[in-house]
Amino acid sequence: MPRSLTRSNQHFKKAVTKLPLGVSSNFRYWGDDRTIYVDHAKGGRIWDIDGNEYIDYRLGYGPYILGYADPRVDEAARAGMEVGGVFALATEAEYTVAERISKMVPAAELVRFSNSGTEAVMAALRLARAWTGKDSYVMVEGGYHGIFDAVLWGTPMENWNPSKGDPEVTADSEGVPLSLKSMLHMVPLNDANRLEDVLRKHGDTIGAYLIEPIMGNCCSISATREYLHDARALCEKYDVLMIVDEVKTGFRVARGGVQELMDFKADLCTFAKALANGYPLAAVAGREDIMRRIGDDVVHGGTFTCHSVALAAAEKTLEILDETQALESVASYGRDLQRGIGAILSARNIPHSFVVHPSMGGLFFSNEPPTNYRDWAKTDYTFYEALAPELHDLGVLVEPDSREPWFLCEAHDSACLTDTLDRFARAVDTTISQSSGAAARGAG
Ligand code: PLP
Repeated sequence: MPRSLTRSNQHFKKAVTKLPLGVSSNFRYWGDDRTIYVDHAKGGRIWDIDGNEYIDYRLGYGPYILGYADPRVDEAARAGMEVGGVFALATEAEYTVAERISKMVPAAELVRFSNSGTEAVMAALRLARAWTGKDSYVMVEGGYHGIFDAVLWGTPMENWNPSKGDPEVTADSEGVPLSLKSMLHMVPLNDANRLEDVLRKHGDTIGAYLIEPIMGNCCSISATREYLHDARALCEKYDVLMIVDEVKTGFRVARGGVQELMDFKADLCTFAKALANGYPLAAVAGREDIMRRIGDDVVHGGTFTCHSVALAAAEKTLEILDETQALESVASYGRDLQRGIGAILSARNIPHSFVVHPSMGGLFFSNEPPTNYRDWAKTDYTFYEALAPELHDLGVLVEPDSREPWFLCEAHDSACLTDTLDRFARAVDTTISQSSGAAARGAG
């Protein structure tokens, strides 16, 4: 049975009369006739209002490390509801969750909570500026750090001409003041010489180096251990704080996040997504001396910070992640998925590769995975873009944009795996036949 989106399409027409693009985030709009409205989700699957069932590898852009509506976390969240909400006062549970974060992530000596990844990164950048007394900062090409003006910058690669030098840095949105650009330096990933050049020339004004070492918004392209250790040393040499954005990798790629995997410590780090298995909680954490500036001369707070429901969910989520084999099971599913996908593509002689971490893997149609965003532009992402809608039609939900990795959760089980691989093979065959049909039509 082909998928029908009749009800979603009807709802879109209504929703768009009150909501820009008919949704509440630009990225949830997939076209007037392909935007999906969710009915409910459970485990690793999601159902839309037309009754279509999907195995979901977006998981809300990563938060559901255990799966949707996890009964253990939801029971804790219900108990959190009884606590009452937000009080413009603190609760004891904040200490309990902060203590668990410090245990799991040694760099997180002190913790402050926020509601979203954006807010946590904003707080980290403000702290770094306060600590160093320097306002400029370095970001890495392909990284994403939320929707506040200082980080809403990128290097669009689609039309980049390598013979003309570095890609142009542009604001991701109208309304971002162009004057902010003067404080931003953009460097390619995995090039410590470039980072040192920038720090040597501008280190006296640069207070922060902001990096997502596994780029969860750029196919999970990963920094090498060597690069991270070099960057760590350079930050010390030039009196720059290293902010490691673990909003996607935190409590996912390892109990101690990417810092555990790569064996280094950030000055400041940020967490959100997997922290509370989908309930809205985030954190900025880091070195005690820097974090103590909060409350001294750095402002941090917010009316909704540490809602008792989100906090209770985080307490239970972290307990599960820390004390059970959940993360090992997520990674093991990821390895099986990559093996299965690899076999399907190899059988069809399609060049492909995967990046580092199976729990949030990127799939590339090239023999070697890219090592930075510039490399990504050279992979055949158009095949992925043609494949994604076929997967949607067959009930496998992946991001239409190839730069978003596939997120896995503990609830993805063997039935999800079998269904995914079966549907993946069919989607690939349809994509191949459509592209050869298009080529033949072009030739004709
Ligand atoms: N940092 C990273 C690495 C992210 O992936 C995101 C969101 O995807 C953010 C920050 C912003 O988080 P939020 O969407 O919760 O504001």
